[in-house]
Amino acid sequence: MRVGIVGAGAAGLAAAYDLVRSGHDVSVYERAPFVGGQASTFDLCGAPLERGYHHLFTSDTDVTDLIAEIGLGDRMRWIESSVGTFHGGRIYDFVSALDLMRFKPLGILDRLRLGLLTLYLGRRKDWRSFESVTAREWLMKWAGKPTYDAFWGPLLRGKFGDEFHHRIGMTWVWGKVQTRVASRRRGLGREMLGYPIGSFGEVFDVLADRVREHGGTVETSTTVSRVEVKDNRALGLYTLATPAEWMSPQPLTYGEPDARPHPVEPAPAPPHYHDFDAVLSTTPSYLMPKLVPEMRAEYLEKLSGTRYLAAVLVILVLDRPLSHVYWLNVADPSIPFVGVIEQTNFLPPERYGGSHVVYLSNYLSRDDPMYAMTHQDILKEYVPHLRKINPAFREEWIRESYHHRVDAAQPVVEVDYSSRIPDHRTPIGGLYLANTTQVYPEDRGTNYSVRMGRRVARMIMDDPDL
Ligand SMILES: Cc1cc2nc3c(=O)[nH]c(=O)nc-3n(C[C@H](O)[C@H](O)[C@H](O)COP(=O)(O)OP(=O)(O)OC[C@H]3O[C@@H](n4cnc5c(N)ncnc54)[C@H](O)[C@@H]3O)c2cc1C
Repeated sequence: MRVGIVGAGAAGLAAAYDLVRSGHDVSVYERAPFVGGQASTFDLCGAPLERGYHHLFTSDTDVTDLIAEIGLGDRMRWIESSVGTFHGGRIYDFVSALDLMRFKPLGILDRLRLGLLTLYLGRRKDWRSFESVTAREWLMKWAGKPTYDAFWGPLLRGKFGDEFHHRIGMTWVWGKVQTRVASRRRGLGREMLGYPIGSFGEVFDVLADRVREHGGTVETSTTVSRVEVKDNRALGLYTLATPAEWMSPQPLTYGEPDARPHPVEPAPAPPHYHDFDAVLSTTPSYLMPKLVPEMRAEYLEKLSGTRYLAAVLVILVLDRPLSHVYWLNVADPSIPFVGVIEQTNFLPPERYGGSHVVYLSNYLSRDDPMYAMTHQDILKEYVPHLRKINPAFREEWIRESYHHRVDAAQPVVEVDYSSRIPDHRTPIGGLYLANTTQVYPEDRGTNYSVRMGRRVARMIMDDPDL
């Protein structure tokens, strides 16, 4: 079978790897000049760094199995992580169960209740009973209002913003707690997180090499502009060299000193046509109507039923540490970012030439003015707030900074989400879809995109109509 794959992220490459090893003729097309999609890296102080912070949980066995299969098993490291919450002007550590008992914004009974509830959610395996209730409703009832206001509410608002935080299904919180509790030693002990020491970029570069070694092709800087459909059957793809001007507003902007907000799409060069027996798209759902104008209305309706939030990331390269915590949730509405992820409290600063590397992250809708802000404007907005987190902080500590945006970073997982998920097999014969909106009940992550890519590869191979 000749299979064309749109996108060389975790899902597209994992699918390609299985298809090509089963003897199929596979071509992967990637719009960006690099593979790895949301988990891709760029060079920072001589070392590869993820455009958005990345680590693995101990439950992420699909991706760690694949890492081992492609010969990088000895590159996995499991590292003690440190988590904290910035609340009321100070950092509260959340490294051990004892730290929970020291979380002063809550009374002692509420702290106990929070600990027990977290254990309960971590042990409970049946997610379906959480499907039809919002996280807000469930947590207000079982954790209590003070705990919701001080702990869960800021987490949900941080991830889904003012527009969506109260609409998120409880299953999403269940999925998050499951992975985090699984990664802790003995329930609420210290958390261990995984990192492929050559970076996530190395994992996906090597995976793309393995696809090529088995006779497949992986073409970067190549945009799929349309899927050819005749008599309700996918026949092939049109590709064009990604116009440079398209890079900035597209899912990944990278490292440029001042990312321009919304350039106008230029007229593309004439496309090339490629014949295929099956096509797998791993693009965000909102690109599908453009790629496949013939798509049936019912399926398009399902695709438009899930909204995405974009991620805006500022990476600061500092000459000294900002805090002692790797993962800091910011539960302070006066601060315009929601996460401070200090990479060099996870990996040693020597890796980055002695510099300290800090991500400031935000999730927001693409029509939020902050999404369109330039690198310089966003720095002006963010940097003054760093003194709240570390009063000694001075702007002179910043050696370099980077600004990235990821368009389809986080699907908005509302109540009764399972009924909204589009099938991998679309109504068009031979056309499949595998994207992060189809990851459920777990939250999206490289592990689940790998699992999904491999599952859809199997579906394509078993399709009786192909
Ligand atoms: C800020 C951030 C932090 C994260 N942290 C973690 C973490 O700690 N651990 C973890 O496991 N996961 C994390 N994730 C999630 C993880 O990166 C994603 O779930 C996963 O990489 C998605 O893989 P994918 O292949 O499904 O999609 P993508 O990576 O989005 O791949 C789709 C690819 O398709 C390409 N494409 C789109 N349109 C076209 C077209 N027309 N033609 C050609 N190519 C096209 C895109 O450029 C992209 O490369 C994080 C994500 C973000 C945004």
